[in-house]
Amino acid sequence: MFFDYCPVCRLPGLPNKLCPTCSRQAATERFDTFMVRCPSCFHPLVSEFYVCPECSMKIYSVYDYSASFVRRIVVRWKLEGERKLSNLVSDMFYDTLTELGLTPDKYCLTKVPSSRKGKRNRGWDHMSDVLLFLKCKYNYNISDILITNKDSPVQQKKLNRSQRFEVARSRFKLKNKYSKPALPLVILDDITTTGASLHACKSILEENNLEVWGAVTLLQEL
Ligand SMILES: [Zn+2]
Ligand SMILES: [Zn+2]
Repeated sequence: MFFDYCPVCRLPGLPNKLCPTCSRQAATERFDTFMVRCPSCFHPLVSEFYVCPECSMKIYSVYDYSASFVRRIVVRWKLEGERKLSNLVSDMFYDTLTELGLTPDKYCLTKVPSSRKGKRNRGWDHMSDVLLFLKCKYNYNISDILITNKDSPVQQKKLNRSQRFEVARSRFKLKNKYSKPALPLVILDDITTTGASLHACKSILEENNLEVWGAVTLLQEL
């Protein structure tokens, strides 16, 4: 059997897979282990009797941001620049896309554009890596058609819902030249907090007559 090290704790294991201990730890932080989901938009809810506060867009987030294990993986990857983790993270996305039936023959992947500052600090674009891994390993069509218009200096959390949306909306735009994807788009992002960026990206795409399924993100801060 091919042999490697757990990309997180470095104990021996299978290539690009969390070892059993890390894998169990990650599983406890999945929303599905301690919450239910809104059946139409997938927003995590405390009980099925709660009325969903979201429901304008499908956003499937896998892990709870307030737990620390998966968040720490994302910090190592994105902020501390451990680029090798792009491979592991792209497989986390792949597992979720597969569970949701978002297969390469039916959907095309895109992403929320990274902030210019983050890209500059890292020297590489973490979510572009994810798209490229998903294309090379699993044959997904990818369409990197949104770009950053300008970085926003505004703290999103201080704004109300529609202000947040407007600020996010002004941060992104479509590339001037792009080829129209033949399949509906799924927007990927690492972390969602208010969801404003995802809603903004969706509305920009839809205004340009592109079909959007919704979004898949790794972590959500509720
Ligand atoms: Zn491990
Ligand atoms: Zn909902």
